[in-house]
Amino acid sequence: MVFLSWLARLRSSSVPSFYSSCSRRNSIFRKHSRALLLSTPTEAASSDHQRNVSRILSSWAYSLLPMALAASAGAVFIQSQNKPSLCDASNIDHRIGDKDSTGYEVKGSYQKVPQELIDELKAICQDNITMDYEERYFHGTPQHSFHKAVNVPDVVVYPRSSEEVSKIVKSCNDHKVPIVPYGGATSIEGHTLSPNGGVCIDMTQMNHVKALNIEDMDVVVEPGIGWMELNEYLEPYGLFFPLDPGPGATIGGMCATRCSGSLAVRYGTMRDNVISLKVVLANGEIVKTASRARKSAAGYDLTRLLIGSEGTLGVITEVTLRLQKIPQSSVVAMCNFPTIKDAADVAIATMLSGIQVSRVELLDEVQVKAINLANGKTLPEVPTLMFEFVGTEAYSLEQTLIVQKIASEHNGSDFVFAGDPEAKKELWKIRKEALWACFAMEPNYEAMITDVCVPLSRLAALISVSKQEIDASPLVCTVIAHAGDGNFHTLVLFDPKQEEQRTEAERLNHFIVHAALSMDGTCTGEHGVGTGKVKYLEEELGMEALRTMKKIKGALDPNNIMNPGKLIPPHVCF
Ligand SMILES: Cc1cc2nc3c(=O)[nH]c(=O)nc-3n(C[C@H](O)[C@H](O)[C@H](O)COP(=O)(O)OP(=O)(O)OC[C@H]3O[C@@H](n4cnc5c(N)ncnc54)[C@H](O)[C@@H]3O)c2cc1C
Repeated sequence: MVFLSWLARLRSSSVPSFYSSCSRRNSIFRKHSRALLLSTPTEAASSDHQRNVSRILSSWAYSLLPMALAASAGAVFIQSQNKPSLCDASNIDHRIGDKDSTGYEVKGSYQKVPQELIDELKAICQDNITMDYEERYFHGTPQHSFHKAVNVPDVVVYPRSSEEVSKIVKSCNDHKVPIVPYGGATSIEGHTLSPNGGVCIDMTQMNHVKALNIEDMDVVVEPGIGWMELNEYLEPYGLFFPLDPGPGATIGGMCATRCSGSLAVRYGTMRDNVISLKVVLANGEIVKTASRARKSAAGYDLTRLLIGSEGTLGVITEVTLRLQKIPQSSVVAMCNFPTIKDAADVAIATMLSGIQVSRVELLDEVQVKAINLANGKTLPEVPTLMFEFVGTEAYSLEQTLIVQKIASEHNGSDFVFAGDPEAKKELWKIRKEALWACFAMEPNYEAMITDVCVPLSRLAALISVSKQEIDASPLVCTVIAHAGDGNFHTLVLFDPKQEEQRTEAERLNHFIVHAALSMDGTCTGEHGVGTGKVKYLEEELGMEALRTMKKIKGALDPNNIMNPGKLIPPHVCF
């Protein structure tokens, strides 16, 4: 009975879905990715966008000279070992990407792409290349991130095979022109920006399943396939891939960001679910990182080195993924709490009870309000936990009842649960689209999304201290957490036209990151570094770890062409 009323609340929908307007971004993307127009730079120069960027460029040109030198620092070190690394030079602006960086405006150097390279790329890619300004602008503008870059790519290519990628990368390396691999563009921290111009390698045309090995429970795919499309393909075989980041994310981008999602609490992150990769290195070599065996102790773990490398070490052109059986039965449950700390305490107690939940998601009252507004729902606007339990029917129900008891011991109320497939689907869809739901409250605003993760025992303390701070802020902020992993997001909405709002959003982001770091946590649980989190890495990892990363980067990409300016702070020297 209780569940029926909850289901009715969830399903009551008098307001048209907000997502129809949000999905415009995706449809624009699809339109652009299909329209492979070849136009000349002269045509591009006529666009308004071009004029804007040129204006920004000209004003940056002189002030960015030191950064241009810094960007090529790694290359110089390798090529001329007896000269000091340029990043030792005193004229580098250490505020860029460093601890004091504001981080949202991504600067870079710019050099015109030589005509020779463009001719080579046209010969390699045939029709799958564009210099159309709108297309380049689209690829140089983040779809889901508040970061902006001063440049856009000069060329966008759409390779169809590992061999084509290899030729593209080798040509770019010969001409020392930067490349940025590009998947679903759902990353949050400015990962796909092209602050130095160059070549954007859009991998979305490489989107095929190459082999499904049902008995081995693995699948070999090209990197441009989306996780949602892959799961549609796998469903008839009773299998699924258990990582669920942003709708539209591709397997290649998911490997490159070491993503996770709501199911990571049971199945692990991308790190745990990739068996092997095929990767094109900066010199054009194609490397296979491992066999298809489920486990191996053969040498350095190159697979894990590439996972989370954010396109800075190689372009992933093939992925072998571990699959899971679709569970026989599952139950979803929701429970309300008077405070967010009570909800966090129940998430922790559930994990400590040893129950293998497959999802524990926490939403604060503001996020529930956004969901109601965007979806025309009437869910109680209080801190809420959402669970999923899987297994046999009896086992899922048994786990549900144990957690119901735990919740009741921590002031939980209205515990409702359901096994109805449609209700479950709708519930997780709503949760997945929570970011876009927030824009129903402030349609013209941008969102700054925090992504900290702490040891589980510190989660309640972190959420409490962060919630106090965001509640005291004039900005609208919502809280969502993958609570079973200690991973917690705040969505801070701000008007990009009002500088003081952006500054306040930044302040909240800094506050939450520093609170997490002080609790032995990380500045990014799953979204990755991109450009936005670069400034926190020294504090989190220390200079020795960063120098080691830079040595690896220098060895694999001596000309620093692979997604330069991302992940490794520019002030780190060998
Ligand atoms: C609404 C929403 C919800 C989200 N929820 C989650 C979540 O729950 N968990 C989570 O972890 N993330 C989440 N994200 C973030 C995002 O979906 C992930 O970071 C995702 O893994 C990015 O994949 P992508 O294909 O969009 O990559 P892109 O954004 O295209 O690229 C990301 C990075 O990967 C590199 N890259 C892309 N393809 C390749 C390749 N073939 N080879 C080498 N490098 C490559 C790019 O250069 C870039 O550095 C969410 C985002 C949104 C918008």
